[in-house]
Amino acid sequence: MQTGVLKLKIRTLNRGKLERLLDMQTEFTACVRFHCERISILGTTNATEVHRDCYREARDLFRLPASTLQQARDKAIAATRSFLQRKKRDRRANPPTFREPVPLRLAVENLKVLPDEGMIRVSTPDGFLWLPILIPACFAAAARLQHAVSEIVRKGKDWFLMLAVKTEDVPSPQGERPHFGIDLGLANVAVLSGPGVVKFFDGKPLRYIQGRFFGYRQALQQKRKTGMVRRSKGKESRWITGMNHRISREIVDLVVAAGGVLHVERLKGIRERCKGTAKTNRMLHSWPFGQLLEFLKYKAARAGVEIIEVDPRKTSQTCGKCGHAERGNRLRQAVFKCKRCGHTTHADLNAAHVIAARGACSPDMGEVTAPLSGEAMVTRKGRHRGNRNLESSS
Ligand SMILES: [Zn+2]
Repeated sequence: MQTGVLKLKIRTLNRGKLERLLDMQTEFTACVRFHCERISILGTTNATEVHRDCYREARDLFRLPASTLQQARDKAIAATRSFLQRKKRDRRANPPTFREPVPLRLAVENLKVLPDEGMIRVSTPDGFLWLPILIPACFAAAARLQHAVSEIVRKGKDWFLMLAVKTEDVPSPQGERPHFGIDLGLANVAVLSGPGVVKFFDGKPLRYIQGRFFGYRQALQQKRKTGMVRRSKGKESRWITGMNHRISREIVDLVVAAGGVLHVERLKGIRERCKGTAKTNRMLHSWPFGQLLEFLKYKAARAGVEIIEVDPRKTSQTCGKCGHAERGNRLRQAVFKCKRCGHTTHADLNAAHVIAARGACSPDMGEVTAPLSGEAMVTRKGRHRGNRNLESSS
């Protein structure tokens, strides 16, 4: 019997529920620390002995259900054992401290998942705590499976349920998820690629607007109207912010609909990678890739979509089909043609493929083979027609 872990986002909680959850986590953390200390005094990690020594005291000290106390004990035992093993190899190894709030571990009987209601039920000393949860459609079936000991973790402001599901026929629920990649650039602001979905966000409207504002401000500057220049800058940045909101919303919605994982390039170095004329440089420095990524990240987090940053090196030169990397692969700005296998496609789309494939194979994802299909449906974006009719012979 294998177990897979589904990471499910808990929806925004009202203050009462949040307080109860926080209280329980604090109790749990304290309880784990208590057991850790006792284990080091006892000098044994034998569960029966630890239980005999601590159980009654822990019951009096902590307001937690009995089985949750046991989870805290097991967690302390596991952490101590791993510390002792590390110490064998490295004498400077540090004992576990549990300074951060420890993920709240829930025994099977303390957690009930109701995918249809979009709720989970957690047993607390004061009765049940119902938490609203976001379960993507593709996970609903897996969430209904029998589950094992699971955890509730907190990341920043967000809470997630790490649901361990016992499964025979779904070896790795993570691997089942479709992988989406995004390539950012100038010709196309963003290109999204995933199984059955290809979406171009043309950079033409942006370039047009930026050109207009630039010319307008130059004229104003000559007339020394600095106030108007400033206002014009504010107007331009609001336009761009609006565009970034629209693009990120559309991308996240597409990924949510497919229940996928989103892979983006790590941004460091994008300016070094795109070198060009004074004009492209001006656009680069005024083109906030950072903002688009930021929006993508928070929108993805809210929607419970996992977003993974991928090493962007050579994505534009690597073949999405055979993996061959060579500078000559990129024929022109927009055309990619692999020198080895002859795979021909739009260069930005190829880069998005490569990012998705690279992300799918990254250690974060566990064992996953890139499930990208070469055939993709092209969805066009309204009136802006660019040089994207190249997605053809491959
Ligand atoms: Zn190739």
